[in-house]
Amino acid sequence: MLKNSDRIFTNLYGTKDWRLKGAEKRGDWEKTAGFIKKGQEWIINEVIASGLRGRGGAGFPTGRKWTFMPKDDGVTPRYLIINADESEPGTCKDRDILRNEPHKLIEGALLSGFAIGSHTGYIYIRGEFYREAEILETAIAEAYEAKLLGKNAAGSGWDFDLYVHRGAGAYICGEETALLESLEGRKGMPRLKPPFPAVIGLYGCPTIVNNVESIAVVPTILRRGAAWFAGIGTPDNTGTKIFCISGHVNTPCNVEEAMGIPLKELIEKHAGGVRGGWNNLLAVIPGGSSVPLIPKEICDTVLMDFTSLANVKSGLGTAGVIVMDKSTDIIRAIARLSKFYMHESCGQCTPCREGTGWMWRMLMRLAEGKGVSEDIDKLLDVTYEVEGHTICALGDAAAWPIQGLIRHFRPEIERRL
Ligand code: SF4
Repeated sequence: MLKNSDRIFTNLYGTKDWRLKGAEKRGDWEKTAGFIKKGQEWIINEVIASGLRGRGGAGFPTGRKWTFMPKDDGVTPRYLIINADESEPGTCKDRDILRNEPHKLIEGALLSGFAIGSHTGYIYIRGEFYREAEILETAIAEAYEAKLLGKNAAGSGWDFDLYVHRGAGAYICGEETALLESLEGRKGMPRLKPPFPAVIGLYGCPTIVNNVESIAVVPTILRRGAAWFAGIGTPDNTGTKIFCISGHVNTPCNVEEAMGIPLKELIEKHAGGVRGGWNNLLAVIPGGSSVPLIPKEICDTVLMDFTSLANVKSGLGTAGVIVMDKSTDIIRAIARLSKFYMHESCGQCTPCREGTGWMWRMLMRLAEGKGVSEDIDKLLDVTYEVEGHTICALGDAAAWPIQGLIRHFRPEIERRL
């Protein structure tokens, strides 16, 4: 279990003052200029050494991503984009950072912006986070007032401006290139990659897109040292992570814990256990709705990190832990997720546009016991036709939960035929 002294987000629950004065009391904005004076390379190397992996879902090492920026030609602008479009079902971690720890994010934006040579940052926040956008705007205004942003930000000699941009609430705008399209004023439709945003991103310029949690932990990593962060968790999955636990537990919550904590411990220690006891557990979706579910036998022992969950053919994703007890109609539950992906498909690619609706209709047929036995393999085949054959990962996100369902609950589907 994570020691209290190792917690980064000490105001995760909003029990203390989120404003600048309160944030400074908790240690934010301390030595910021000193870190910048140590240089870009020093910051990037510290973040690489910390082992920080992106907290938005893919788990790509944050520091390494920063090194993909081309050499600064001194003319082309470079941008830092913070993805606050948190829309993954079961996930509400960035929301608590935005409303209760906004200064950690703003300070992180300045330090990360400097590290990649950017003078301009945008926080792209989902439209539904209305209050969070208000808080963020207020916190940014406070930072400008205190000369922590703008010209010579925090007395560091580096100029940095930060803007909040509100989206209109489309799930797909959380995909980094759709986000860029939306920010440029167009429909949020993902771009083909390559080129990756680090080379050609916002307005055709080098751009880094990072998740809120990834950026918000950067100041603490620099203050406490890469070795401290790397000493928490497991070797390939370092540091702390905010887990969101929802569904059939006694006390649903967000909690910051060490990476690699056993799933069972996470649920029992922090979420009051499964409704009706551990033996009443049916399955868990461990990383937000796009990752495959895992049945109880795996939940008994699995660790909550990128590597361990990939080893059981699931994923840590956003660490949105959705718990389902034995009262769950598991086919209907996955069909509901399919409906979500059908609704959120931007429609650009045929396998996703047509496949998501087809998969939802087939799942509903199976849930209602109207299917025939060949339907199960036909459905599985279609998920493989969609997976990996689309412009963005929404196609995969729609396919994986169904693959997980068939992998672990085929007998239940057959029982209903
Ligand atoms: Fe749009 Fe789906 Fe294609 Fe992504 S996979 S670009 S959401 S149609």
